[in-house]
Amino acid sequence: MTKTVGVVGGGQLARMMIAPAVELGVELRVLVEGEAMAASLAATAVGDYRDAETVLAFARDVDVITFDHEHVPQPVLRALVDAGVAVHPGPDALQFAQDKLVMRSRLAELGAPQPDWAAVADEADLRSFLDDHGGRAVVKTPRGGYDGKGVRVVSDPADVAEWFAASDGPLLAEELVPFTRELAQQVARRPSGQVVAYPVAETVQRDGVCAEVIAPAPRASERLMEVAARLGVTIAEGLGVTGMLAVELFETADERILVNELAMRPHNSGHWTQDGAVTSQFEQHLRAVLDLPLGATDPLADWAVMVNILGGPAAGGLTDRFAAAMAEHPTAKIHTYGKDPRPGRKVGHVNAVGDDLEDAVYEARAAAGFFS
Ligand code: ADP
Repeated sequence: MTKTVGVVGGGQLARMMIAPAVELGVELRVLVEGEAMAASLAATAVGDYRDAETVLAFARDVDVITFDHEHVPQPVLRALVDAGVAVHPGPDALQFAQDKLVMRSRLAELGAPQPDWAAVADEADLRSFLDDHGGRAVVKTPRGGYDGKGVRVVSDPADVAEWFAASDGPLLAEELVPFTRELAQQVARRPSGQVVAYPVAETVQRDGVCAEVIAPAPRASERLMEVAARLGVTIAEGLGVTGMLAVELFETADERILVNELAMRPHNSGHWTQDGAVTSQFEQHLRAVLDLPLGATDPLADWAVMVNILGGPAAGGLTDRFAAAMAEHPTAKIHTYGKDPRPGRKVGHVNAVGDDLEDAVYEARAAAGFFS
């Protein structure tokens, strides 16, 4: 019998589940926030994901509910579970992706390596954290941050005075990690326990936004690959994650890795798997949340490079540029999100794979360049 997956949230992550759902013979339904969303072509309902009744009505008759984002409030998630709906990832796991303070405490219990951190309730607390960490720190709002919003490097507690004033709980203070680069580890876990890991990737952020990803991470030793994969598996199991998990990491000069944050869904750092791995993260997410056997995570070539299309062309739509980009870069794979171009907005990405890293980087960047 055809299985049905309901996705809450109509962004590009839901959109990119559509093609693998068709291939797998899975019916995909999407609850979108409004008209003209990236995943509107599979939308079966329009409504507010913060409203329990709306989400419960959407969840009727689906085999499993999953998500395009982590913002569905806990009471709504609990109402789904109470109504007997299979929810993957479930509320117990999702809380660690919804609140960075909750995540830090749980990762500490698991013994996962992470930056020094503290919950700071007021400016005096932050002052003492700064004094203990060389006068500089990273302060984060525990909830609701994305793409670097809600993250600030501070040297004076007054730098985040308005966050303290607006917050009804403590903020998260972290040591400013002198990382040499950022990495991302993708893993997938089924409710019945099977877990698989992809090769760790290098991610490059600009202005707090992911710009490029290279997989596997260049110059990564066997040991680093193993440590990152094991850490991803430990976190997926320890937190009871089901579906895809992305573990964002910092690598330090002495080849240590520290956990920055978690995403419990397909993630920008895993888009390379669409064209660079046997099983894309979007297919894998569907398999995982349906508790089907997971697909192989092996790369299809030595290198996969993903370059985001940020903002899009100043005039006209993305599709106006297709023919020119395709003619020049026939090996590049262009993925678009059906969004209107706007400065800084992620509107698509390009993947290039091959056995020569420089070529793949060139192809992906040059093809993406047609769209800016
Ligand atoms: P968001 O949830 O908005 O994506 P992150 O916690 O991932 O925020 O932080 C965004 C970026 O800020 C990171 O990718 C990294 O470049 C930088 N950053 C975050 N935490 C630290 C830290 N403790 N030390 C140094 N840089 C950091």
